[in-house]
Amino acid sequence: MSELRINPERLWDSLMRMAEIGATEKGGCCRLALSDEDKAGRDLFVAWAREAGCDVSIDAMGNIFARRPGRKKSALPIATGSHLDTQPTGGRFDGAYGVLAGLEVVRALNDAEIETKAPLEIVVWTNEEGTRFPFGGSSVFVGQASLQAAYAAQDVDGLNFAEELDRIGYRGQLPCGGRPLDAYFEAHIEQGPVLEATGETIGVVTGARGQARFDITITGMEAHAGTTPMPARKDALVSAAELIRAFNHLGLAHAPSGVCTVGRIACSPNARNTIPGRVDFTIDLRHPERRELDEMILEIRALCRAETERTGVIVELRRVDYEEPVEFDPTCIATVRDAAEAAGHGSQEIFSGAGHDACYLARLLPVGMLFIPCKDGLSHNELESATPEDCAAGTEVLLRTLLKQAKRA
Ligand SMILES: [Zn+2]
Repeated sequence: MSELRINPERLWDSLMRMAEIGATEKGGCCRLALSDEDKAGRDLFVAWAREAGCDVSIDAMGNIFARRPGRKKSALPIATGSHLDTQPTGGRFDGAYGVLAGLEVVRALNDAEIETKAPLEIVVWTNEEGTRFPFGGSSVFVGQASLQAAYAAQDVDGLNFAEELDRIGYRGQLPCGGRPLDAYFEAHIEQGPVLEATGETIGVVTGARGQARFDITITGMEAHAGTTPMPARKDALVSAAELIRAFNHLGLAHAPSGVCTVGRIACSPNARNTIPGRVDFTIDLRHPERRELDEMILEIRALCRAETERTGVIVELRRVDYEEPVEFDPTCIATVRDAAEAAGHGSQEIFSGAGHDACYLARLLPVGMLFIPCKDGLSHNELESATPEDCAAGTEVLLRTLLKQAKRA
């Protein structure tokens, strides 16, 4: 095991070759889902995977599964991967890193002539970014979105998902979903500033932040600004101000994991001489733990009720949406943590502020994830950058993670 090494130069070379496809002037990448560039990126990956001895199969959403066979015929594959599509002004590492780290693991095992007990699979999920079309391959795979809805979607030019998938030759024979997998591990750049700030190399991801969004309407009483005595007023804007301040305190009380933001406000009639009768504003709450997120919502409701009791304004709270926090599998988390230690890399637990394919997979399978630092925490940006050393470190940890999991099969 201690002899087993990945090849950092080969990994970096593959990352840079993939980055040439859709390369932008500022050093980023534009490989929109199901575009010619996406096809070229997929073709390159498939060629590399076949060269590395993998069996490649493709499902109805264009998700690519590259399998390296294992010893035990009945064992379910251990999957790893990410996505190859990017934002229009995306970077070289978001997504591509997880796919090519998986490929480097397979190549390193080939070099060392190691046959794992369980098969390994590198997965390329279609359209993770959701820039061109709304539904991603991993969300259809877990049944969160339907294949029909994904196929029917159109981009801004009126081009249809299913036709574009056909056009690039990646509508596969396999059904999307129902593929038995033992576990899924994804390596990704952090896309945030935490690891760079603490100086740790590996983020052991415990889950992803959940989110709740509300619209709030406060109804008071419009009245003359000159003639209405102060104690007799029902001023909607004053109540909004009290609540916004209280919500900010609530966010601070749940920091650093929790955040609470009032981002938009409209006051009516918005006139100098009239006491505001109505205020509409938004609130956005996020927290990585469901219990805490739900607690924050309860506190928001209690603050609204208290404001009504105190002043007589009517506070209406409408939920716009609620995305549950994702909590990764404790055993998978421990496997990643132990692998980081065994590989001699400093690590810390971290949760993801962004969504990933892994977050969808976590609805179905035991999932683990690891982050490596990225420069200035910058992502979805052409200047996105990660060092060859950190890319190699994350891949070493992924290798040990997959080997450990494959042994359990
Ligand atoms: Zn990504």
